Amino acid sequence: MQRNPRYNILFEPVRIGPVTAPNRFYQTPHAIGMGYMKPQSSAALRGVKAEGGWGVVCTEYCSIHPSSDDSPHGFLTLWDEDDVKSLALTADAIHAHGSLAAIELWHGGSHSSNRMTRTPSLAPSTRPAKYHLPVTARAMDKQDIAAFKSWQREAALRAKRAGFDIVYVYGGHDYLPFQFLSRRSNDRSDEYGGSLENRVRLLKEMLEDTKDAVGDTCAVALRLAVDELHGPNGITSEGEGRETVALLAELPDLWDVNVAGSLGNDSKSSRFSPEGFQESYVSFVKGLTSKPVVSVGRFTSPDTMVSQIKRGIQDFIGAARPSIADPFLPTKINEGREDEIRECIGCNICRAANNEAVHLRCTQNPTIAEEWRRGWHPIHIAPKHTSSKILVIGGGPAGLEATLALGQRGYDVTLAEKQNTLGGRLLNESTLPGLGNWIRVRDYREHMISKLPNVEIYRGSAMTAGDIKDFGANHIVLATGSMWRRDGVGVVHEEGGDFLNAITPDDYFKGANIKGPVVVYDDEHYFMGGALAEKLRMQGHDVTLVTPMATASSWTVMTDEQFFVQKRLMDLGVKLVLSHHLVAHTSNDVRLTCVYTGREMILASGTLILVTGRIPQDNLANTLQYGNFESLTRIGDCLAPSSIADAVYSGHEYAREFGNDKTNAPLRRERPIGEPAL
Ligand code: ADP
Ligand code: SF4
Repeated sequence: MQRNPRYNILFEPVRIGPVTAPNRFYQTPHAIGMGYMKPQSSAALRGVKAEGGWGVVCTEYCSIHPSSDDSPHGFLTLWDEDDVKSLALTADAIHAHGSLAAIELWHGGSHSSNRMTRTPSLAPSTRPAKYHLPVTARAMDKQDIAAFKSWQREAALRAKRAGFDIVYVYGGHDYLPFQFLSRRSNDRSDEYGGSLENRVRLLKEMLEDTKDAVGDTCAVALRLAVDELHGPNGITSEGEGRETVALLAELPDLWDVNVAGSLGNDSKSSRFSPEGFQESYVSFVKGLTSKPVVSVGRFTSPDTMVSQIKRGIQDFIGAARPSIADPFLPTKINEGREDEIRECIGCNICRAANNEAVHLRCTQNPTIAEEWRRGWHPIHIAPKHTSSKILVIGGGPAGLEATLALGQRGYDVTLAEKQNTLGGRLLNESTLPGLGNWIRVRDYREHMISKLPNVEIYRGSAMTAGDIKDFGANHIVLATGSMWRRDGVGVVHEEGGDFLNAITPDDYFKGANIKGPVVVYDDEHYFMGGALAEKLRMQGHDVTLVTPMATASSWTVMTDEQFFVQKRLMDLGVKLVLSHHLVAHTSNDVRLTCVYTGREMILASGTLILVTGRIPQDNLANTLQYGNFESLTRIGDCLAPSSIADAVYSGHEYAREFGNDKTNAPLRRERPIGEPAL
């Protein structure tokens, strides 16, 4: 197929200082949880992005000195020549596909926890170290500033030796240069504090030094948070953010601008921000500089991308999450296959991986971070190994993904779904406030399956054990999902209880009668409890959210959403009863006890909704133990209830490894070797 000429503008080359990007698709820096310990995994992941058509591919944060150590999270280092060798793998992997390799040099200042190096944290002024309590970051003196500048310079030279084309000065996300910029964290009285000119000085000197060190062959990019969403006391796009851009306008070769302060503001989930939500903050930048500008906004629609360029908002289409969800997004647009784009749903499971210090994972893309470790590629998949017929039962995320990947391998696949509509849990979950984009998990798969002549779908087909045996498939895959528990067993509440009058989210979605006041008891701690409370409140109910945790939807801190969830619930007037167990329930009230003191509290309640654990719906597996088939496999929530991301992964793993002898081989791991013995 051919590219739609409407999108030609996206494939124009763009000059960035001494280098030229082959197109406007720019994978902005994003964490992948691998860091300096996993150079081959990192190189393979970035290489696939370049292969998928991203004209610029950037690393995650790369520490310039041991005083900037983010252990145990996966961060890169450019501290010595061994790091140069490791990072050269990434630069080479990107260059192999004709893309530019960019590296985000980083110093975290008071944000660096330094748990590994045990070096005191540095800051412009004495401040508590945010993530390394009870440490206080020490104020940098003139010698420290001179040393810091030399670290940036040395790291830039190493980056050049490793083969990178674009070297970053990182003034965003509340890290060290931004701490100098912001009045909140800088109360110095020397030439690096006070007036904005003084607070900008360090950034200016870093840009000059970096250009002097590597600017002959490398472009120097400045990443700047132009608004830290902290009101007039902070950097704002109307105030000091704008003035900073004006002061440094022509100095960097490229402006990479965003809304930051914390990472949660920049990579906001779709529950709290629409596509392109940063535009109103960053759109002024191009008016103040002739240098190319890149920004982000979870862009997945090529028409929105073209509009960004044509309206002069930015010169590139910056993307972190859309490039994770679909590393081949640019190629698909280039080949006129934009209907095949696997759109990011904005769920921020990728952010959770970073916050939990593990390999990147993505709801939409099960192959991300598996490129080296499992040899999974987002496009290529091994052809079928037999002419077996496979029957998949259940059309939720797991069943859909297994069907698609098996179908792409060429197997003869039948998908049977009880309901008249595909989607499983997504059908309910995407109706919760802010979660509409989640249905894309189904839409992408249903659309791609519809192109496969070897896959048949039967909707409205509730399969019994007899039906399954009669069907005569060689392999049976059960993707029949899970149900919410009725016994109150949750994360904290391990023993459960007798809650016969309570309802579960399944009952709610089936239309159970809701009588106020409503108590939502959340002992699951992800999105469901908070989102149900929000929805019921918006429908006019008197709602109380009770949880044994100290915050509402506490696990959403991992998806960078917890603050926004709790704020929204409080703004809407949902009452919060935190740190309380559910003990008993009648038709009129619930009895709670404080998790610390055991003190009792009675709340009036016409409806109690239990958001606790889930139980696999695997009855068919027990009745089907013997039959005229070769294998019976449970996948997704039917095997072990978890996130949508895990269900998709489970479905993909089944399909990818079907017929592979190595299914039970241990995961390939990178191991540090070659260090001299003591
Ligand atoms: P997962 O997240 O693992 O994909 P879901 O709960 O989203 O699980 O999806 C399970 C799907 O399986 C639902 O759409 C449900 O209607 C379907 N299902 C459950 N039992 C049967 C059955 N006996 N026959 C056909 N479909 C079934
Ligand atoms: Fe997008 Fe969710 Fe994937 Fe992150 S995990 S890239 S937010 S779909």
